[in-house]
Amino acid sequence: MIGVYVHIPYCIRKCRYCDFCSIPIDETAGRYRSAVLKEIALSADKYPGERVKSVFFGGGTPTILPAEDLCAILDAIRTAFPVEPDAEISIECNPKTIGFDGLKRLRSAGFNRLSIGLQATQDRLLRRIGRVHTYEEFLATYQAARDAGFTNINVDLMHGLPGQGQDDYLDAIRAVASLEPTHISAYSLILEEGTPLYDDVTHGHETLPDEDAVADMEDAGMDLLEALGYHRYEVSNFAKSGYECRHNLVYWHNEPYLGLGAAAHSSMIEDGFWVRFSNESSIPAYFKKLEKDRLPRAERILINTFEQMFESVMLGLRLTKGVDRKAFFDRYGCDVIETYKEAYDKNERYGFWDHSDPACLRLTRAGMDRLDAVLRDFRERRWIDFLRR
Ligand code: SF4
Repeated sequence: MIGVYVHIPYCIRKCRYCDFCSIPIDETAGRYRSAVLKEIALSADKYPGERVKSVFFGGGTPTILPAEDLCAILDAIRTAFPVEPDAEISIECNPKTIGFDGLKRLRSAGFNRLSIGLQATQDRLLRRIGRVHTYEEFLATYQAARDAGFTNINVDLMHGLPGQGQDDYLDAIRAVASLEPTHISAYSLILEEGTPLYDDVTHGHETLPDEDAVADMEDAGMDLLEALGYHRYEVSNFAKSGYECRHNLVYWHNEPYLGLGAAAHSSMIEDGFWVRFSNESSIPAYFKKLEKDRLPRAERILINTFEQMFESVMLGLRLTKGVDRKAFFDRYGCDVIETYKEAYDKNERYGFWDHSDPACLRLTRAGMDRLDAVLRDFRERRWIDFLRR
């Protein structure tokens, strides 16, 4: 079973911190639906009968396209592939881009999970990062979503924003939690080179909270989210029990997924081999290949077993449940701890392993805080040693 991701690469305008593959909406948007429909038809020929357990429309801002286009794309996925009757079908949305009628149309077409990008509840912070909406506009979208029948809703928040203090962040969490969404994603701002915010910060026109302040904000936010009934199940994701994002779990469990749309990435099994490929990121190049009845691939690489194993660890350790040792053994024929013994022992000395469930390789909260360093130790495992084992 696979997950299907549909990338919609348009936004009203770029946020100041954003380096995602998205552009301010232009005239190409009118042709995007038919291009994706073509890609779906070609993909169905390549992967006939592939069962789908989750669909996720992300971006960009998917809801910037007319609801009719989004519903037509979902219908085409359903026609091309057997989508499980209880599949999670999510769509990302930004306040101000869709109203009650559009949301109602999406809900009726089968979208059953909505993810709303808010980031902060203070308008002065939203302006500073270049968001196009106010908090009031978010509240109107949230209410419209509820009225349209969405019961499974995620809200995105960020910390480490310019001008943001810990109280701002905790107030935002409290305000959002009072609306009772089923899921809250709480990301740390990453200053990406090439963005307007990066230029402002490097030229001294903007300042970010220092590292310690961000770490304190993150810790306090985590505690508050847990206290409000949102359990942490991944580094940056918190959910009410039973509402963990099933589509994102496909990624974190290192399972296959098919990406559709410009710049979308895929990880699929082809003729028994794991392959990773990405689509053309330029929209004209994406259109051009499809016009020639070709899948719009830009790059395709084979993933060997050793690389897959590392990816299963890298992604699995992001989860608070950790890496399921039996699932790892069933897939690779070896025990994850034995295979990465040196890295395991080193991090055991630091007290980074949570031993509460011997069936899983799981990090403590302190270990998760140092995930990058832990993964560097796992990365050092050489494939040649693996082959000699
Ligand atoms: S709405 Fe999202 S994808 Fe679009 S510019 Fe802002 S952060 Fe980037």
